[in-house]
Amino acid sequence: MNRSTDLLKIRELLQKRRRDILHANMGAHRELSALKNQERDPEYEENAQTELADYTLSSLMEAQRREIMLIDAALRRMDMGVFGECVDCGFEIPLDRLEALPFAIRCEEDATRHELETRGGHAATPSL
Ligand SMILES: [Zn+2]
Repeated sequence: MNRSTDLLKIRELLQKRRRDILHANMGAHRELSALKNQERDPEYEENAQTELADYTLSSLMEAQRREIMLIDAALRRMDMGVFGECVDCGFEIPLDRLEALPFAIRCEEDATRHELETRGGHAATPSL
């Protein structure tokens, strides 16, 4: 198996994921403006539905913005040729880890150590 071919596959997945998020976002915007238009209907007095949609959309968009930032960072690392290298020890991050966590910037060992250092020993979710 050729590692650079696999990295290219991950790159394509990330780019596709990025497009999907942007598309989903545009769809959500359209749905929201459709809901907002209902407000102008005098018989449509209840706007709780719109508020809920606003809330759902903004929290959804927050998560998506974060994911796009992670994707962009991963793509930048690919452009610089350092994608898949651990930022701490410099060794290659195993492909199975990258496939599961394409935004990973550390090998499992360093991610665990980093997690312990930054979160004060909390055994929470593994760090990227
Ligand atoms: Zn490492």
